Amino acid sequence: MPRSSRIPRRNILSGGLLAGTSAIFGSLPAVQAAQRPSAVPTRCLRIAHLTDIHLQPELAAAKGLITCFEHVQSLPQRLGCEGPNIILTGGDTIMDAMAADVARTKLQWELWRKIKADHCGIEIQSVVGNHDVWGWTKTAAGATGDEPFYGKRWVCDEFGRDMPYKSFDRAGWHIVILDSIFPFEETYIGKLDDAQWDWLERDVAAVPPATPTILFSHIPILSSTPFTTVKPTASHATDKPVYGVEGSYVHVDIARFHALFSKHPNVKACVSGHMHLVEQIDFAGVRYLCNGAVSAGWWKGKHKGTDFGYALVDLFDDGSVERRYISYGWTAAT
Ligand SMILES: [Zn+2]
Repeated sequence: MPRSSRIPRRNILSGGLLAGTSAIFGSLPAVQAAQRPSAVPTRCLRIAHLTDIHLQPELAAAKGLITCFEHVQSLPQRLGCEGPNIILTGGDTIMDAMAADVARTKLQWELWRKIKADHCGIEIQSVVGNHDVWGWTKTAAGATGDEPFYGKRWVCDEFGRDMPYKSFDRAGWHIVILDSIFPFEETYIGKLDDAQWDWLERDVAAVPPATPTILFSHIPILSSTPFTTVKPTASHATDKPVYGVEGSYVHVDIARFHALFSKHPNVKACVSGHMHLVEQIDFAGVRYLCNGAVSAGWWKGKHKGTDFGYALVDLFDDGSVERRYISYGWTAAT
């Protein structure tokens, strides 16, 4: 299993255990280092990736999330390693808005806002997940589609931004936050719309070739995890068993991503959530990481053996990326 708790030796060499700088402000020397890659890679940035929180008033989820935030912020004391510079939430922040009415959705976002304000002192950047989108399952949500906060408008307001996707530069890296959630009937598939593709291709093309780039999406761009969920069925023509992976599990525009990445080899990694499983695929020069779930099995227990956890994603000045999945000590409320 990739849930290694081993600290890569180079983390130790690069200051993971020795650093005296603070977790939040410790990146300045790394920015300088990023311009002069050294023989021993230096860590530029540590991201705590908290995905699939599925916050809800039930199942002690609020207490679980508080425990998780406290764990992230006390890493130096707990594990003897430096804390993260940023928390990046990977989507499905709340239990569900897609099929929830206004009152229920409001309750969940209010809980998120309060816990964040009271228990998190680190910068948060956020990815939109399918469960964060309001009202697409219209009948269940009581939505008409004409509400000013319909669809992604509400979650964008919660995240304090105009668009569900964005990019920014930090510590010598270019960081892209994608919006994987494309409408399909009254639900969704994993895909970028034409406007986002146009934006992404221009965004990545504008990055200097020497600047490593990492993409965060809610739905995996490439993943083997759906094969733990789907069963082969007979093909129409020959009865030969065929795996049919739904487009709600992985992006259906994988080929376009591969074409983009082959033009821009400075794209080093794609990080996702959604599957509540931990996985690493290294393919064609890109590392694909799927990072479990804060809520594990939607707060009811582990999911297929995957614990309640979050990932530390370390970005180095040579463009390499390392990930550790960390259990924060939560068990399902009884
Ligand atoms: Zn999801």
